[in-house]
Amino acid sequence: MTEPLGRVLAAIEARRDELVALTQDLVRIPTTNPPGDAYRECAEAIGRRLARRGFEVEYVRGVGTPGDSDRYPRINVVARREGARPGRCVHFNGHIDVVEPGHGWSVEPFGGVVRDGRVYGRGTCDMKGGLAAAIVAVETLVDSGLPLPGALEISGTVDEESGGYGGVAYLAERGWFAPTRVQHVIIPEPLNVDRVCIGHRGVWWAELETKGRIAHGSMPFLGDSAIRHMGAVLERLEHELLPRLATRSTVMPVVPPAARQSTLNVNSVHGGQPEGFDGLPAPCVADSCRIVLDRRFLVEESIDGVKAELRELLERLAAERPGFRYELRDLFEVLPVMADRNGPVVQATLAAVRQVLGRDAEIVCSPGTYDQKHIDRIGRLKDCIAYGPGILDLAHQPDEFVVIDDLVASAQVMAASAHRLLTLNA
Ligand SMILES: [Zn+2]
Repeated sequence: MTEPLGRVLAAIEARRDELVALTQDLVRIPTTNPPGDAYRECAEAIGRRLARRGFEVEYVRGVGTPGDSDRYPRINVVARREGARPGRCVHFNGHIDVVEPGHGWSVEPFGGVVRDGRVYGRGTCDMKGGLAAAIVAVETLVDSGLPLPGALEISGTVDEESGGYGGVAYLAERGWFAPTRVQHVIIPEPLNVDRVCIGHRGVWWAELETKGRIAHGSMPFLGDSAIRHMGAVLERLEHELLPRLATRSTVMPVVPPAARQSTLNVNSVHGGQPEGFDGLPAPCVADSCRIVLDRRFLVEESIDGVKAELRELLERLAAERPGFRYELRDLFEVLPVMADRNGPVVQATLAAVRQVLGRDAEIVCSPGTYDQKHIDRIGRLKDCIAYGPGILDLAHQPDEFVVIDDLVASAQVMAASAHRLLTLNA
């Protein structure tokens, strides 16, 4: 390790209490999404802080994006600081929104309680702890006085938990991740302090409706049950599609390993007439039944192939089963992304984990998606990873926490990684 970098890492360790305090401050701003509370307050807290270090701060409202209103404006913050001379830009992106606390907490969800070497609260893990670590990492690099080339940039963005349209997608569409301004991105999502996440699987959500004909429930032979038709669909999914998906292997190192294949979940089933005012069932044959499908797919599969595979199964059923009629509607889709594991940001972060933790990091992919999709697909920026201090399994859970030692270590890793990226070929 170079001597100046060693001093930076020591300085981060010395700022442990400040890092904890910043995490607490951010957690105490209840940026619950939906509806998108307190975004401005949180964005401005980050902006004010970084402005004091000479960052140029801009606030970008995702005007007209889902949920944006004067009551709940989608306010993002982007802070940039140019270095000693031109060079590459390392960008840290953290979402400031959190999911609602839900039930089952033993501490105040927005209290930022410190106990047993942990900070507790909604967003400590996902992902205000990571954002705080990134902020302290860049501040310490700035304070070190090292004549680093290039630029350091931090964004606090909204709505990741609801698709990122008013946040990273909005910024990416407007050129904030253009290759002329940003070259490397680290997203401190909670993937564990010793794992480098290079991407995620794809998503296809679709609604499938089977059609029937209504009739009196006492004479079902006079109608045609949409629920029985759906039963036939579920049977095919169970015995044909699911076993086939389970055999598909991938180069994606998805964690947990059980997610290292294509998966399909039936998110919901709705069918038949609702119960009456008396709570008793409607005595009818169901004329409609709907399911919502959540299909997660791999880089080896195309979205068109994924859709065609289901359609082919349904068409075969239609040919074989009298009266079978259906409608299939697209709800949402995200393509899989995976950064090059030999690319600069992956390699710099692997080296940084080795320096700081003294062990090799594991390269992983996430089972679900996060904002990397927008940076990759809209921004066309491929050198992007997720790396952050939280424990993945704790995200969205009651009594969410982040381990303080992990906060400090991840801030050190981010500083070392940024240092390496900025001084690469410099
Ligand atoms: Zn997150």
